[in-house]
Amino acid sequence: MKVMKFGGTSVGSPESLQLVKNIINNESETVIVVVSALDGVTDRLLLAADFAFKSNPGYKTLLEEIISRHKMIIKNMEFSLEDKEEIEQKTGQLFDELQNIFRGVFLIGDLSQKTSDKIVSYGERLSSLIIHKLIEGSRLYDATKFIKTNKQFDSHIPDLGRSNELIRKTFAEMPPPRVAIVPGFIASDIEDNDITNLGRGGSDYTAAMIAAAMDASTLEIWTDVNGFMTADPRIINSAYVIDELSFIEAIELTNFGAKVIYPPTIFPVYHKNIPINVRNTFRPGEKGTMIRNIQPTRNGKIIKGISSINDTALITIQGLGMVGVIGVNKRIFSTLADNGISVFIVSQASSENSTSIGVRTQDADLSRKVLSEEFSHEIEMGSINGIMVEYDLATIAIVGQNMKHVPGIAGKFFGALGRNGISVIALAQGAGETNISCVISKSDLRKSLNVIHDSFFLSPYQELNLFIIGTGTVGSKLLEQIQQQQSTLKEQNKLRINIVGIANGRKALFAREGIPLGGYYENLMENGVTSSPEHIRDEILEMNIFNSVFVDCTASPAIAELYGELMSRNISVVTANKIAASSDYENYRYLKETSRKAGVKFLFETNVGAGLPIINTMNSLTNSGDKIVKLEAVLSGTLNFIFNTLSEEIPFSKAIRLAVDAQFAEPDPRIDLSGLDVTRKLVILSREAGAHVNQPEVVKKLFIPQKYFDGTLEEFWEAIPEMDAIFEERRKELERKNKKLRFVASYDKGACEVGLREVESGHPFYDLEGSNNIIMITTERYNEYPMVIKGYGAGASVTAAGVFSDIISIANIR
Ligand code: ADP
Ligand code: ASP
Ligand code: MG
Repeated sequence: MKVMKFGGTSVGSPESLQLVKNIINNESETVIVVVSALDGVTDRLLLAADFAFKSNPGYKTLLEEIISRHKMIIKNMEFSLEDKEEIEQKTGQLFDELQNIFRGVFLIGDLSQKTSDKIVSYGERLSSLIIHKLIEGSRLYDATKFIKTNKQFDSHIPDLGRSNELIRKTFAEMPPPRVAIVPGFIASDIEDNDITNLGRGGSDYTAAMIAAAMDASTLEIWTDVNGFMTADPRIINSAYVIDELSFIEAIELTNFGAKVIYPPTIFPVYHKNIPINVRNTFRPGEKGTMIRNIQPTRNGKIIKGISSINDTALITIQGLGMVGVIGVNKRIFSTLADNGISVFIVSQASSENSTSIGVRTQDADLSRKVLSEEFSHEIEMGSINGIMVEYDLATIAIVGQNMKHVPGIAGKFFGALGRNGISVIALAQGAGETNISCVISKSDLRKSLNVIHDSFFLSPYQELNLFIIGTGTVGSKLLEQIQQQQSTLKEQNKLRINIVGIANGRKALFAREGIPLGGYYENLMENGVTSSPEHIRDEILEMNIFNSVFVDCTASPAIAELYGELMSRNISVVTANKIAASSDYENYRYLKETSRKAGVKFLFETNVGAGLPIINTMNSLTNSGDKIVKLEAVLSGTLNFIFNTLSEEIPFSKAIRLAVDAQFAEPDPRIDLSGLDVTRKLVILSREAGAHVNQPEVVKKLFIPQKYFDGTLEEFWEAIPEMDAIFEERRKELERKNKKLRFVASYDKGACEVGLREVESGHPFYDLEGSNNIIMITTERYNEYPMVIKGYGAGASVTAAGVFSDIISIANIR
């Protein structure tokens, strides 16, 4: 014999009821079927009762809706004519009763617990009646006859012993035919037989009590998900089904908010060693989750799941007078227990100076009141500081019985939270070692669940959440490359790249669930809001997304200004924008320091040499103990292009124009010609080599007179052909001497210089094609023969690829 419980989610519509019918009829053994009210009906009944109680005639509409919903189901299901008449008559009677009760509540304006319990029982009474008629040859049982409760404070506590006896007796006297139908949730008081219930979600409990009493072979919980999942699927979209859980793990998870099973459900069946199988009514082919008696193993999965309770308040009793005093905790807990307050997390410092207790928010004020009374004397004497209450908190727990004796789990848990900027307010781990819990701010809950799910590899994919700022040449190329790579990264590297924000100078668009990359630009321009650096910053901080990376593909100083704050809030920064890394040395240090403290990355490889691995290589050398003594480099793709393009036919001014047209140069080519761009790059490289330099300290040897830099861009284009003749002369002369012009940046033991040099044919810089860059790195180890890195040093495509590669490298740091 087995017990099958179908939740409200499974009995909400004619279609799902048909599925339920098929599942039950496919069973060959005797089954006891426990059913919930139709999906949402319990909520609506409670709401209507509240309306009636507050003399709001709107209750009638709600009640009509509930009634017509049931009528619609009856109308749309297949019943014999005879059955149909009977069911219409019986449900009609229940509807009449319900309407009368409501009228009474409305007129008197009073709603006692007793009336409310009675009202809410109609949900299950109606649904069980309908399902009974749907299953031919079934018998309907009245749960109030055998599920019994006792009064305790304002609630009803099931009387397991008495219920157990009565269940057995009922089914012995009235043996179930092939199928027994029992309404879940509803019960009656052991003393006065008034209708009561087992609390919200309590149908699971009814089913467990019956399964235990009847020694069922299995308890099946049929719902609308494929099983017990690693986390609440409504919060974590990568949550997946857990194949197997031990009873202890299931208790830990449900107790901590995994709503899929009502927490007390596990206990009765655990005692009898009856396995629970969580199944999906809508996908009956899936195996679901088995909850059964399994022992901890060394090789099993360490963390099975995560759960959380979002309404938490933390009560702290603190005072130096508590140190070493015996009986303080006893008084705390007795006081709370005497007032019916349940405590779900406790943390005491070993100095005994403070005890913190997590309670439901609704219990917080009462807890403070009763504890303040209990300790009024100590508070007056100053040995206890007072009772402190913190609100708006959440509790999160990781669960797995295999974590027993495995070192490092707590470290990983708190490390992952810390890296994402989530502060832990209180924590607890019992010596049972099946659960580690901590209290955090409610606003961090979603992020914490994601972080933990991700870092314990509960997720099938690791996730990176990107904010891409700038949709110009580099930004748009990057988005194109991400779009191309997205599925490969997901399949091969198990890395999910999620674009959660895109912004340019005009519009900004954010979406937690990700922005599809096909047609992103139109989407941004149509649906985005007006963009500003402040708005971008506020939105990102507000979204508070885990594993997030801010990607700057602009050249904007205002965007670069945001890095510090973002990194201090644990968001990594990847930037193609040179402004920050070449800004004032103090700012550069501050940014590096901020990223280090927050445990996030600040990457700007593409600031120098586009996609060439220059900064990474220098860092690898210095990290392994080498010392960079000298750098010599051609770092301006634009200038190199210009000097390589000069010929008899192409004079200097034309070569500049070509560089601009090919998008190598900045729109104002003077940024390149003045050496400003190279200076910035050299400053960045020198800093990475360990030097304390600022831009003004770089010696600049200009190769065109200052006057060309002073006027407007138009004046520049008009005047610059004046230089053509000089350059042509120099070019011819160099051609004769077999030399070439190169704009070289150099760093030599702390001294920085940029300027034009003539290089001979044997020099590594001589054959530097097109817009290529080259760098020679001389170190203590690479001394006689410096290390050389050469390749494309400009262009949107390689720059975007470099940015992409920086982004990917962040995925490896968890
Ligand atoms: P029923 O009406 O069948 O009793 P419930 O709504 O009570 O259904 O429980 C099922 C729901 O529990 C799922 O739809 C899911 O959204 C939610 N849920 C929360 N945590 C989990 C979890 N860890 N695993 C599966 N479902 C969960
Ligand atoms: N119908 C009740 C509720 O919604 C009991 C249950 O569904 O388990 O809480
Ligand atoms: Mg439920």
